[in-house]
Amino acid sequence: MKHNKLITLALTLLLSTALLAGCGENSDPSKDSGTSSDKTASAHETVKPMGETFFIFDTVVNVKIYDDRANREHFNEIEALLNDIDGKISRTLESSEIYQVNSQSGKSPVKVSPETFELVEKALSYAKRTDGKFNPAIGNLVTLWNIGHEGAKVPDADLIEAAKALSDYHLIELNKDTHEIYLQKEGMAIDLGSIGKGYAADAIYEYLEAQDFSSAIIDLGGNIYAMGNKPGGKLWNIGIQDPDKERGNPIGTIQVADKTIVTSGIYERFFIEDGKLYQHILDPGTGYPVDNGISSVTVVTKHSTDADALSTTLFVLGIEDGLKFIEDTPDTEALFISKEKKLYATSGLKELLNKTNDSYTFAN
Ligand code: AMP
Ligand code: MG
Repeated sequence: MKHNKLITLALTLLLSTALLAGCGENSDPSKDSGTSSDKTASAHETVKPMGETFFIFDTVVNVKIYDDRANREHFNEIEALLNDIDGKISRTLESSEIYQVNSQSGKSPVKVSPETFELVEKALSYAKRTDGKFNPAIGNLVTLWNIGHEGAKVPDADLIEAAKALSDYHLIELNKDTHEIYLQKEGMAIDLGSIGKGYAADAIYEYLEAQDFSSAIIDLGGNIYAMGNKPGGKLWNIGIQDPDKERGNPIGTIQVADKTIVTSGIYERFFIEDGKLYQHILDPGTGYPVDNGISSVTVVTKHSTDADALSTTLFVLGIEDGLKFIEDTPDTEALFISKEKKLYATSGLKELLNKTNDSYTFAN
């Protein structure tokens, strides 16, 4: 691991412990908007969570289980689960299945595990629904821009064109019978950065459920699953990050039970060149970062894999088309925050949001 990566890791780990309440579950009881009857604490409500922080997928992962039966072994198993997922779907890990698929592009199909196959299949379904604005074949552009990593700068236009020419998702061939994936053009590369964290959150959820746990916060760098209810049966308060502030400063909270809350935001990974901010979600049509006035998009629904794909999808679609898209998606709510501090929300999301920051106002 590079020196500056180590420093980043140490800092993020420190920050995540200190600031998690703001971008994740709002655990400060003084900020809890419970009714007065909630204040008669039952024995259940005093359950202290057992938590652990991991660093994987370039992300700080924090899992808190609210159950006295939770022990170290559970966290070891969660860590193994995360490593297993990374070992399958990472674009950069040479031993991963996706790495093999990418390195065999234009040469031969590669057989992958059913999990990887289904995830690529799901990513492709979003590509089809968005006419390629959400695009898992975007690997070359992601590598070229290198956003969020050392030395990121605006690439030369001809390199952008060359990477764009290798990002046609129609050339991802899936064989359902053999679980083989074939990239038809040499040099193509799949990138699952838009969906992988949600997939991992669902996998942790399923593991916890199988262990008979029913109350937990699974947080993968802002990709949150609030499992079940808070001890005592109350709703979780999940902070929605203020895109213009340090992590831990919410614009408000939403109250949920057993839902995933996933945000794609310009503050997650970006660099600034000549005073202009370049964020990490790319427009496959132009080859440049999307620059459509959105600061962040949050999606609330039941499955984190979908929420993760959707938050990226809505970001690339923009506010108007994004709101239309989400109205056609059942049991799913969304909140767009614009750079002008305007909020655009589905009706269901408005009901869930307890806005605490007056500089943000609803535009719809
Ligand atoms: P997220 O933070 O979930 O919105 O995902 C952003 C990540 O998805 C980026 O860091 C890239 O790895 C990848 N990505 C960037 N642009 C796109 C796109 N248009 N479609 C699909 N994935 C993308
Ligand atoms: Mg996403």
